[in-house]
Amino acid sequence: MDYYEILGISKTATQIEIKKAYRKLAMKYHPDKNPGDTEAEEKFKEINEAYQVLSDEEKRKIYDTYGKEGLEGRGYRPSGNFQDIFDMFNEMFGGGFGGSESEYSMPYDLDKGMEITLSFEEAVYGVSKEIHNEYYALCEKCNGTGAKEKETCPTCNGRGSVVMGNGFIRMSQTCPTCNGRGYIIKEKCDECKGKGYSVKKEKVHIDIPAGVDSGMRMRVANKGNEGPMGRGDLYILFNVKPSKIFKRKGNNLIVEVPVFFTSAVLGEKINIPTLKGHKEIEIKAFTKDKTQIVFRNEGIADPNTGIKGDLYAIINIAYPKKLNDEQKELLEKLHQSFTGEIKEHKSFLEEAIDKVKGWFKGK
Ligand SMILES: [Zn+2]
Ligand SMILES: [Zn+2]
Repeated sequence: MDYYEILGISKTATQIEIKKAYRKLAMKYHPDKNPGDTEAEEKFKEINEAYQVLSDEEKRKIYDTYGKEGLEGRGYRPSGNFQDIFDMFNEMFGGGFGGSESEYSMPYDLDKGMEITLSFEEAVYGVSKEIHNEYYALCEKCNGTGAKEKETCPTCNGRGSVVMGNGFIRMSQTCPTCNGRGYIIKEKCDECKGKGYSVKKEKVHIDIPAGVDSGMRMRVANKGNEGPMGRGDLYILFNVKPSKIFKRKGNNLIVEVPVFFTSAVLGEKINIPTLKGHKEIEIKAFTKDKTQIVFRNEGIADPNTGIKGDLYAIINIAYPKKLNDEQKELLEKLHQSFTGEIKEHKSFLEEAIDKVKGWFKGK
């Protein structure tokens, strides 16, 4: 079979396109992914043979003109040795299947971010949403090349990279002429005007787990921008609106509970809001201001573990804003009935003041 057919590319393919096609097929038929499959093994060998020839412009020229016999006539035999093939594969893709993208620098990042605002209740209970995603996609007409007609870059001979420096220090870097593409555009694609990409829109369904908070990020795989090797990921950053009822501290919830001063002294049962609706709590007689009552596991679920935080009810003693004549009279009567206690507090303070005065004289 023809080398171009094996890699599924045209005779005018650039080095980048050759590499791309090779990578895709080599990943698919790699023996590590197809253990014991001799057909895949043969295919993997074929792909590598084709790549070894076509990735070398000199060998490619001979092959294009004289075919396989031409190469053999010049003493070239592609290596069918698996170790050689693996070495080449690992050198190209850094071992493993993750590998790096091609050196070709895309005009945009493959991963993209998006911020979405959630109401407090959406964040706390979790929510499913349809979001509108706008992303960069390769132009379908020119397959992302930006060219209607292109020619191999004369600076790098289609490799996309050039070796700089001299002596011992030699570094490979992105070709400045073609920006790593390996080709230069002779005539621009009329669909994308030479950009190679366009903006596409889609709806994406996402399930937001209960408990997310502002600043947290969620990854949606393969919904980022499109590059030659596929799409990147979409990262959603949450912004959660505050609630008028609850305050949030980590996964703990705080609810402020106003208790009228007479209730705080006499004691009373009251209902407070919780994430499940409400809960009756008992304000004991003589409850102090800022008293905290903790309800374990009634806070917010951790979006990763599902473990719930606690609910803190904080008592805020509330006083009347004004008194009518009758209330004033009653309160004064009440006040006078506490003469004993009031005296006690006053003498405590007087003693304290006398003591401090004594200290102060010595200074
Ligand atoms: Zn185009
Ligand atoms: Zn170049």
